[in-house]
Amino acid sequence: MADDAEDARLAQLIETVLAGRARVSVDDTIAIATRLNQTIDDGTVERAAVGVRQGLPVVCSRGCNGCCEEPVMVWMPEAQVVARWLMDPAQLAVRTRFLAAFPAWQKAAGDGPRRLAELGGRVSHDEYLAEHQAQWGRRVMCAFNHQGDCTIYPVRPPACRNGHAVGTSARCSGASYGGRPASRLEFTPLDEFIARADAVLHAMHVAAGGDRRRAMALCEAVHRLLQSAMAAERKAQRRR
Ligand code: SF4
Ligand code: SF4
Repeated sequence: MADDAEDARLAQLIETVLAGRARVSVDDTIAIATRLNQTIDDGTVERAAVGVRQGLPVVCSRGCNGCCEEPVMVWMPEAQVVARWLMDPAQLAVRTRFLAAFPAWQKAAGDGPRRLAELGGRVSHDEYLAEHQAQWGRRVMCAFNHQGDCTIYPVRPPACRNGHAVGTSARCSGASYGGRPASRLEFTPLDEFIARADAVLHAMHVAAGGDRRRAMALCEAVHRLLQSAMAAERKAQRRR
């Protein structure tokens, strides 16, 4: 019952923020983004079941990671979900590993994230896609991937939850850039929900003061949030 009331409150908040009439607290932002992630997961399970019935099996599994060479651009709420989770003391080892991996990722990614951020919303879909694929072809493994495994699997962003391939993972990595892309399933209920989820995440990003047209590289955005959160934590500790 309490959950129902909370769901209703967040649903109302979503409509208000979509109408451009509300700022959303970080706690509510994370609660909304987490619910969106859960619904996306439900949708991917349904999509996979449809694929099986059609003889088009989705072959994704945890640990399969060619797609983790794809640049992941996010809105602020997606990064906040990850950063909040990483600030939990139970995730200290994951956080420490990410912070250690970040400089090498940043060096390898070079100006790729900035180029993608600057193009977002300013060029045609095809032009953006061409740059996205060019960055993918550089084969920069996500800094959250450790020995093939996604270390933030429970809180990974929608793009990572939705990414999938039918039949084979052979065409997922940046090595196959320029060739035939991985086969994907169209599944209207999920595709439509993801479009709405993106609109909600974008609206919360803008409501929080983010640049309307500028998404951020997941690794960079989370790194920045962690730096702030850890600085605040150190300050609080000094006061005690
Ligand atoms: S999209 Fe491709 S690389 Fe990624 S999990 Fe699925 S099959 Fe594996
Ligand atoms: S967040 Fe996880 S699933 Fe997404 S690209 Fe990084 S390692 Fe891969």
